Amino acid sequence: MRNRYPYNTHPATSPPPTDYLALTKLYVQTARELGHPSLINTIIDRVTDTSNLDISQTQDCARTVMVPLAAFLGSSNSGSGLPSRFGHLQQEGLKLYLDWLSTHSDELTEDRAVSLLDAALACGNADVFMKSVWPRLEGINLTGTGLRLLAQHLASRRDKLVFSQGAAGPSVQSIIDTLAKRATLGSCVSVASVSDIMATLHWCTKIMCAPNLCNGVIERLLSPSVIKGNYIARVLVPLLPELKNWGIQNKQNVDYAVQKIVGLWVKRVLGGALPAKTLAKSNQVAALAGKWTCECVPCSSARTFLVESDQKRVILRDIGVPAREHVEAFLSTHADGLATCDKLNKSPQSLQIIKSDALNRIASWRANQEKGVALLKSLSTDENELRTILGPEYARVKAALAGQAAAPPATTPRMGANSSMPSASGSTKAGPPSKKRKYMT
Ligand SMILES: [Zn+2]
Repeated sequence: MRNRYPYNTHPATSPPPTDYLALTKLYVQTARELGHPSLINTIIDRVTDTSNLDISQTQDCARTVMVPLAAFLGSSNSGSGLPSRFGHLQQEGLKLYLDWLSTHSDELTEDRAVSLLDAALACGNADVFMKSVWPRLEGINLTGTGLRLLAQHLASRRDKLVFSQGAAGPSVQSIIDTLAKRATLGSCVSVASVSDIMATLHWCTKIMCAPNLCNGVIERLLSPSVIKGNYIARVLVPLLPELKNWGIQNKQNVDYAVQKIVGLWVKRVLGGALPAKTLAKSNQVAALAGKWTCECVPCSSARTFLVESDQKRVILRDIGVPAREHVEAFLSTHADGLATCDKLNKSPQSLQIIKSDALNRIASWRANQEKGVALLKSLSTDENELRTILGPEYARVKAALAGQAAAPPATTPRMGANSSMPSASGSTKAGPPSKKRKYMT
């Protein structure tokens, strides 16, 4: 393996250096300092002479020496212009580099992406990138990370690029959009947690690809294939405050997404309104404390269990016959249908109280109702603002949280009839309707 790289075959040095790029840069620097920039052409010809190398070594040489050298020359030419053989180095290096990348598409690290772009966009000239690099890059199945790296580093160069007159083809922005779209909308990007989703949205904003991309990301996290299991309660609800703030900061209208998430939560988690019978039982529980006023210890324990506890059964131990009968009398008067009770025949007697299924349902519904109230508070504590944010969902959500039947469908199309979704009336954050429509279709 010694001295396989042609520029290292001349007899001068020993032992052989391992950092070929550093050595090559040193030669370039020396040629410049000696006032012989034309020698750089000789260095280029040696570097690009791969006649002694097999395919793998040739690609390795392109990746580790040719392309980084082109990047170095392209960003450090000392006012004397690029050497005449630069185009040869650039074309040859990039071609071999892309050959390598096409079979190592998951190995595009940040250093490699930067090096590739620096070489392809030497001196800010975009022609080589547009004509020979992008058409091949487009066909390579890069990972989400690789796509993001290319998009963001291309975006950071976007304003400094120059094009030949009459150059045809896609614009740099459309290439960035294409890369970013593949990077954020494909299954390679996670929407499994709030931090993943927010990182993607912030990234889109950073490379100035909002709003289209962000709308696509939001669309994805609301798609039926993603909303499974406890996704609504675990991810979408905790996402709400951050999504709302992100919308305000970036002047993106996210009202539709917020409405949809709240609507989904009411429907799938809270389970909509309570059935009329259950609602009646719920009212019975609420009235219990006002009617069953005995303050003795067994009564207080039984009442607390029925009204506040999330336990399904309780045993009032060793209270004895008189107290057991006393509590049973109150239970049959005020808690009919809410619980059953059994005496436990030991001495002294105990009383076991078991909640009815209806009361258990009410308890779990109440727990969810509290979460729903907290959910709305996380959006706003101002009722008018909440009304604006939730738009057509407001009345329905409020009714559901009060345990009441949903209001009859509004005359305007509701969620789901997306294209006809009315624009948020009076929302101070609302973007132009056209922006909004994009993620509703
Ligand atoms: Zn009592």
